[in-house]
Amino acid sequence: MNLITPLFHDDFADFPLKRALAQVVKKREQGAKVVGAYCSYAPVELVWAMGGVPAVLCAFSNAPIAKAEETLPANLCPLIKSSFGFIELKTCPFFELTDAVVGETTCDGKKKMFELIEKHRPLYVMDLPQCPTNEGAVEYWKHSIAGFKKFLEKSFDTTITGDAIELSIAESNRKNSLVEEIFAFGAHRPSVITWQEMYEVATYAMVSGGGETVAKLEEIVAMLTFRLENGGYTAKESAKRVLITGCPVGGDVLKVLKLVDEEGATIVGLDSCTGLKPFAGRIEEGSGDPLQAIAKRYLEIPCACMTPNTGRMENLRRQVALLKPDLVIDLVLQSCHTYNVEAVKVESLVRNDLATNYLKVVTDFSAQDLGQLKTRIGAALEMS
Ligand code: SF4
Ligand code: SF4
Repeated sequence: MNLITPLFHDDFADFPLKRALAQVVKKREQGAKVVGAYCSYAPVELVWAMGGVPAVLCAFSNAPIAKAEETLPANLCPLIKSSFGFIELKTCPFFELTDAVVGETTCDGKKKMFELIEKHRPLYVMDLPQCPTNEGAVEYWKHSIAGFKKFLEKSFDTTITGDAIELSIAESNRKNSLVEEIFAFGAHRPSVITWQEMYEVATYAMVSGGGETVAKLEEIVAMLTFRLENGGYTAKESAKRVLITGCPVGGDVLKVLKLVDEEGATIVGLDSCTGLKPFAGRIEEGSGDPLQAIAKRYLEIPCACMTPNTGRMENLRRQVALLKPDLVIDLVLQSCHTYNVEAVKVESLVRNDLATNYLKVVTDFSAQDLGQLKTRIGAALEMS
């Protein structure tokens, strides 16, 4: 084995979305129904339990935004515009494969966008309680999850048994533990895993399940252990360390992460929904009430749409203690009010409590701010 062997040995080197697409196509050809999802709150265990496969529909390309702006306001989050534009143009390969779609009432833009796409696919919108620690919130969310289960059963003329859900919960837990173990390799100095590899692992794990996925993730843990034991470092010891938090990232907004690379720094953690966040939790197994167990775990996901979102602060404390970054970059997509306002608390936590440098970046999917971003990121790293 070479010191730094690619983690995936297939035809999709550097194309994690194509790998994910191939995974969904393979499952569909085997007879699985494809359920599109826009968010980490989608309880995918139900999709797996009916023998289906989830497809992630959030898009990060600037290309379809002009089309979206023919219908949607220009001052909307680019993630929503990009996802909607692809649907209008019929060029999102993931959406084209879906048999049904699930949405959650997270932010206003997404919630209202769902009303515009329901003509294309059977759609179930789950009403997500946004004060997760209030009395009755978990019970309410459990009702939404039960509604989603009924929707799947009716749409696909199937029955999702409690045993199948329990099995799917156990598989999710195993998968999530392994993804967490893989991301924890970022803690080593020098690091033995790149952000591109973390992103590849997260993208793969979102649409993959079962024994084959567990075996692949175990193989990746073994490869990273080999790197660690044999000095297969992916960054210089002197490289400044960066943790990325905030909105989901991908496609054209990876420009920010690439600029960090260009400055000679190394990204040691991806904390958002396209990184560790969807995998950093476990569902209680064998509780006798699997829907309740799913409801409890999903309401613990620390998205800025929640208030209070104390889970995100606790999570950042843990991540900073583990990864020891020199700089935390809080990446906010333009017009994402929840993450933008929450940045005030995140900055205070990171600077004052965790004594770590902090940079908030508000950006979209265009290339127009590249020069300005390069200067700001370079200066923040210099001061870290
Ligand atoms: S950031 Fe929030 S709304 Fe967006 S995918 Fe994650 S959990 Fe869902
Ligand atoms: S980035 Fe913010 S505004 Fe955009 S879809 Fe996610 S939560 Fe909504």
